[in-house]
Order: sequence, then C-alpha cells, then structure tokens
Amino acid sequence: METHEAAIKMVLDALTDGNHGVIKSLDEIGAVGHRVVHGGEKFASSTVITEEVMKAIEECNDLAPLHNPANLIGINACKALMPNVPMVAVFDTAFHQTMPAKAYLYGIPYEYYDKYKIRRYGFHGTSHSYVTDRAIRLAGLNVDKSKVIVCHLGNGASVTAVLNGKSIDTSMGLTPLEGLIMGTRSGSIDPAIIEFIAHKENLSIDEIMTILNKKSGVFGISGVSSDFRDLESAAAEGNHRAELAMEVFGYRVAKYIGSYAAAMNGVDVIAFTAGLGENDKVMRKTILSYLEFLGITVNEDDNNTRGKEIIISTADSKVKACVIPTNEELAIARETVALI
Ligand code: AMP
Repeated sequence: METHEAAIKMVLDALTDGNHGVIKSLDEIGAVGHRVVHGGEKFASSTVITEEVMKAIEECNDLAPLHNPANLIGINACKALMPNVPMVAVFDTAFHQTMPAKAYLYGIPYEYYDKYKIRRYGFHGTSHSYVTDRAIRLAGLNVDKSKVIVCHLGNGASVTAVLNGKSIDTSMGLTPLEGLIMGTRSGSIDPAIIEFIAHKENLSIDEIMTILNKKSGVFGISGVSSDFRDLESAAAEGNHRAELAMEVFGYRVAKYIGSYAAAMNGVDVIAFTAGLGENDKVMRKTILSYLEFLGITVNEDDNNTRGKEIIISTADSKVKACVIPTNEELAIARETVALI
C-alpha cells in the first residue's frame, strides 16, 4: 500500500464489497476502535478521540517513534473517510498504569524521569487485561483476591503480574525491547554490551539498536529463524543453536514468573497466550517444569492442546496453569462500545 489512507480505504471497500462484504455501507459503522501503542502517563484507560487526545498521542511520539505516528495516520485516515463516526483510542500501555513507582522506576538519576518520563510503561496491555479476565473466570477466582501471571508469548513477548485485577509489574519497559528474549528482540541485556559492541564493531548507537530489535532474540542466538516452529524442526535435526535458543527463551520466562510470584507473595494462576503460548505444548511444559517448587503439576493430556481456553494443570495442582487465546480485537471493540 502506498499510504495508510489507501490501506484503510481498501479495508473499508472489502467490508462493504457487494459479494464478500459483511456490511452494506459505511453508515453501519457506529464507531472505530484504534489500538494506540503508547499513551505515556497521560492515559490510564481508553478514551474517545478528540483534537486534544490527538495532540496528547502526538506528544508520546518520542516514546514510540515507530508506532504512534502510524497510529495517528490511521486515525486521521478513518476520520477523513468516516467524518461523523466517533473514534476511540485503546492504549497498549494503559493497563499497566496501575504499576507502583517501585516497579516502574529505573535505577538511574531521577531527573531523567522528571525531565523525559523515562520509566517502565509496559505493552500488550489489551492482551494482558483480556487474558487476566478470562483466566480469573476459568479458574473460578474472585478478582479482588486474585494473583495472576500472564505470559504473552508471541513474536513480541511479555509477562505481567496482575494482583487483584491490576497490573503491578510487567517485563517490557520504556520500550518493548526490555524483558523476555523475543523472536528478534534481545530482551534485557547488560547495558554495557552496547558500548562494548560499538567499540569492537565500530557501529553507531542506531545500528546497534537495529541489531537488538531486529537481529537478536531466538533469531540471533539460533541463526535459523524467529519462528519457534522452524526452531523446533531445526533442533529435531540436530541444530544445537536452535535448541539453545529455545532453552534460553524458556529459562528467561520461568525466571520472570518466579520473580512475579515473589512480587505478589504468591500466584493463583499462570496463563499462557499469543502464538507460542497458545500453541506450543513443549515450551509450556518446559517453562512450568521450572516451577514445580510452587506446587504446579501439568496435566499432559490437557496440555496437549492448541488455541483453546483450558486449564492445563492437574486438579490437585496448588497453582493453576491455563491456556487463554488472546483476543485484542474483541477487547478493543468492547472498550469502544463501552465508551460510545
Ligand atoms: P504472535 O506474535 O502472537 O502472532 O505469535 C507468532 C509466533 O508464535 C510465531 O513466530 C511462532 O514462533 C509462534 N507460533 C505460532 N504457532 C506455533 C506453533 N504451532 N508452535 C510453536 N510456535 C508457534
């Protein structure tokens, strides 16, 4: 597509297509919900988009230079094509705005938080929020007395500690680069590595950031692929680095779960979601086998499942584990309906 406007026009044409469309005309669209990546500290919940909101989203461009400007183009394109239809922004960061300062502050001079708002924000909020709600229902918990850890394991990956329905810590940070090892993102590393590589390889900061975002993670370790299906095939054929990449990935997820169990002084349910979390029984089993000390036992038959809501721990497991297919589109639609 040449532009975002052209792309959105094409989507709308498909929706209203005489043969294959699902609606007769654009008049049937009552509202549009937009996923906006970064709401900074300004948005702790979804909001109807006004000129003021557009400005506030733009002010967060610095924090998400790849995403927020594109989100604004999408909103403007929809406004141009549907001038009288209300627009709603649903922020990826909003769910995590309940984190306390001890979870969101970095150990760097406080003036950087004051001046530039450098802090942990966290992402995948719509998914973590939706999956938490489903996991609480599935496990039969009372939301006000619930300790949930959500593992959103896709190409991008993050873990969130949700205490009594509120996010209290999450693995992604100022940007989605922190935390877990991902498809192509490094996740957390010793920051001094950046200087070390810069000197050794004579690279600029920008070049190193591209490496950390696009050429690292399980792709970087394995040299094979960012897709776990490829890694599993390669490992089965004896590729040691592919095997290593999966091991490093699972180990990091297990460590985050362990630390979040400490952060909440316990955990009732661990939920797996997104491409890998929903589909990969081997990785789920690997991660949960580190956590037997918490009193988790996996039911092999129930874990042998893909893409459906199910409890995968045994009936007598002290901590429950489950699979919850995420549905960010549905969550965004519900938020939008609620606001309109
Ligand atoms: P997402 O970003 O949530 O769409 O997840 C995409 C990732 O999920 C892919 O890159 C794969 O690594 C992983 N994935 C999807 N299906 C499977 C599967 N059947 N087995 C293992 N990994 C899978």
